[in-house]
Amino acid sequence: MPFDPTTSTLVSLRDAIATKKISAGEAAAAYLARIASINPSLNAYREVLAEKAAARAAQVDAGRVRGPLAGVPIAIKDCMCYAEGTTCAGSNMLRGHRSPFTATAVKKLEDAGAVILGTTNMDEFAMGSSTETCAYGKVSNPWDVTRVPGGSSGGASAAMAADLAAAALGSDTGGSIRQPAAVTGTVGLKPTYGRVSRWGLIAYASSLDQIGTFTRSVGDAALLAKIMFGADPLDGTTAQMGVPADLDQVESAPGRMRIGVARQFTQDGANEPSVQRAYEEALAVYKAAGAEVVEVDLPHTKYGIPCYYLVATAEASSNLARYTGMHYGHRAKDAGDLADLYRKSRAEGFGAEVKRRIMLGTHALSSGYYDAYYTRALKVRRLIRNDFDTAFASCDAILCPTTTGPAFRIGEKTGDPLTMYMNDVYTVTANLAGLPAISLPAGFSAAEGGKLPVGVQLIGQAFDEARLLRIARVHERATGHHLVRPVL
Ligand code: GLN
Repeated sequence: MPFDPTTSTLVSLRDAIATKKISAGEAAAAYLARIASINPSLNAYREVLAEKAAARAAQVDAGRVRGPLAGVPIAIKDCMCYAEGTTCAGSNMLRGHRSPFTATAVKKLEDAGAVILGTTNMDEFAMGSSTETCAYGKVSNPWDVTRVPGGSSGGASAAMAADLAAAALGSDTGGSIRQPAAVTGTVGLKPTYGRVSRWGLIAYASSLDQIGTFTRSVGDAALLAKIMFGADPLDGTTAQMGVPADLDQVESAPGRMRIGVARQFTQDGANEPSVQRAYEEALAVYKAAGAEVVEVDLPHTKYGIPCYYLVATAEASSNLARYTGMHYGHRAKDAGDLADLYRKSRAEGFGAEVKRRIMLGTHALSSGYYDAYYTRALKVRRLIRNDFDTAFASCDAILCPTTTGPAFRIGEKTGDPLTMYMNDVYTVTANLAGLPAISLPAGFSAAEGGKLPVGVQLIGQAFDEARLLRIARVHERATGHHLVRPVL
């Protein structure tokens, strides 16, 4: 059978191009053709850079571009500044915005030889769990087009599930890589806070935002991690730490495996039965592989959602203050004085969810309420972090579901923001604590004839992605859930 670049892993595609089993031009053409035929029904990509991608692939084939990702087609999320095409962060505020520079994470991929296919749709400024707040249209889940692909990186997850990229970058502030990965059956890695440079990532909540990956396998996530991780002089919050040489050695045995389980993730029948089953199956996989299962307690997890939505909206209200219509972004046409220009530009440029978050955050930071809300949330954040520190004294990774259920229907939760916010119950604490976490395909929900993917999550110790990925690979190897593709 001829080599199919649109279903192979990143690692094998990279090797196939390097050994000339397939040319970079053929790989790019195969993806671009697939995007042209499938993207219209999904709206995963906002902008496809077809000519640019083909030209870049030709350079790889001519030997002018080399590196560990030479010729591999990758998609980026619309909140990553890119000097080609436009960068809009899913918002009308930045419609048509051309960035003069490229985000460090994207640049590192390009320097490694990757071919950037285009930009994927997302919730406006990464605020959402369903990609329904995107100013460039909703995105459909390839497993069932009447359902959401998760969010905010829903274009990236849909692109991966539909095989429209060999890998995709996402950003995760409260779960925006892991939750969409879980409901589309893809592998989603959020690294430790500070591992990947945020320079050029359009800010949502700076103390939580982190760039990560959507891939077909754990090994592919490891390959990208090895390239993207590392200190960046342009981002003072990147950790001044070396990247472990064995980061991509996911086939090695993880050594000691103590899997932490917390009742906070399984209590009250909160999980859909299929999610509960996937979680229990994962636990059984680890036991069979010789892991020790350790009970841990994360008592402050129950405050995760309120704490997250205070911290995230407070930081968002501050970060989004830069969109005034003056420097960049939408500028209202018929404004009177300066204050009027600000007001009108913001009123016209931002969507409803972004405005809600700006108001919530501004309120939490306002004098008189600051201590009651913002300072309090920071204290709770510390307690959440302390819970994890205690837990990791006795375990190496914590296993839990990624979401409580499979993908919901488009429109099902848009009328009720609080129900929408509850999507992130299992993901926000890793961001609040700054920890690395990965969502793995874990089977299918019995709903809709067993066609909707569900995921399990592993949360690791800070800066120990190498071990986290090896532990994740144990589940992947034993189950093979990641190999099941949707019929399109
Ligand atoms: N759904 C969460 C929110 O709306 C998380 C978003 C994200 O991680 N970017 O804030």
